[in-house]
Amino acid sequence: MGTTFEVKVVASLLPEPQQELVREAIQGQLQDIDGKMSTYREASEISRLNRSRETTPHPLSRETFTVLTEALRISRMTGGAFDITVGPLVNAWGFGPAPHPAALPTDVEIEQLKLRSGWVKIELDPRTSTIRKGDPALYLDLSAIAKGYAVDRLSEVLAEMKLVRHMVELGGEVRTSGRNAGGNPWRIAIEKPVSVSSAFQRILPLENLALATSGDYRNFHRAEGGHLSHTIDPRTGRPVQHELASVSVVDSSCMRADGYATALMVLGEEDGYRLAAEQDLAALFLVRTREGSFREMETPAFQRLLRAKPVTGTDLTPERESGS
Ligand code: ADP
Ligand code: MG
Repeated sequence: MGTTFEVKVVASLLPEPQQELVREAIQGQLQDIDGKMSTYREASEISRLNRSRETTPHPLSRETFTVLTEALRISRMTGGAFDITVGPLVNAWGFGPAPHPAALPTDVEIEQLKLRSGWVKIELDPRTSTIRKGDPALYLDLSAIAKGYAVDRLSEVLAEMKLVRHMVELGGEVRTSGRNAGGNPWRIAIEKPVSVSSAFQRILPLENLALATSGDYRNFHRAEGGHLSHTIDPRTGRPVQHELASVSVVDSSCMRADGYATALMVLGEEDGYRLAAEQDLAALFLVRTREGSFREMETPAFQRLLRAKPVTGTDLTPERESGS
């Protein structure tokens, strides 16, 4: 997946052969998901679908179908702020698997790419587990949600191996299960959204919950004096530009948290906060201030969730940092 991962398990010391089995199961699961959903692999299921010009039903694995179904649900719920068909625009702005373009896309190019995209052109049939492209040019990019899905799957793999107390992190998205070695909720840090240092903004006590963060402070590039975010606003076809530095979402599903975090990042601090509050999402928005610090905006669901899970003990060092 072109990213790092970490898995922590609370268990009495596992004998080496069993540790090896766990490692193999995790690697196998990651390879499987990568082989299905990575646009960075030409042979993946999604890359084959992207190359296909057919507009007839195309069979998909159960895993990819699950992720696509969730992606479309989030698109619907966010009025299209989340849209996996922005792939060609992601590439045009230099953030996808395609070679970095020599120049920024022109207005005309952006309009053309926008015309060929749109999540409403995707048709899924759950009875046959097939997808139909409403436009042969549709190109799907699952980067905003597949990492969260992978974290959920790794957590399930561990649980199936009877390793119920664990923490899984992949590229900044985290899921916790049970309590940590000290018998407390896991302490998961949200980084300050700055590219230079790694300081913490918050430490969340999480138990059986996932956390995903979307931000513009890691994966970005500078263009003509500006700062280009890798999050594309499907309405404009351009990288989002606002004072919102990051959005973190807590949910029982890491796939959902991942998708929501990206969608709220697109919507920005006002519309995003409104939608998150309306839909009762547990979200923390970090907004840049003129003084160079961050203003926190917590939704009511976020506040409730943290109030319900007090930290016991005195050790405040985080077990994991989240941010992407
Ligand atoms: P990260 O990869 O930093 O964890 P995200 O989960 O927010 O961040 O995913 C960002 C990636 O999602 C981008 O690099 C791009 O491939 C894709 N993307 C960009 N804009 C959108 C969007 N509006 N909807 C869905 N996916 C998007
Ligand atoms: Mg995301």
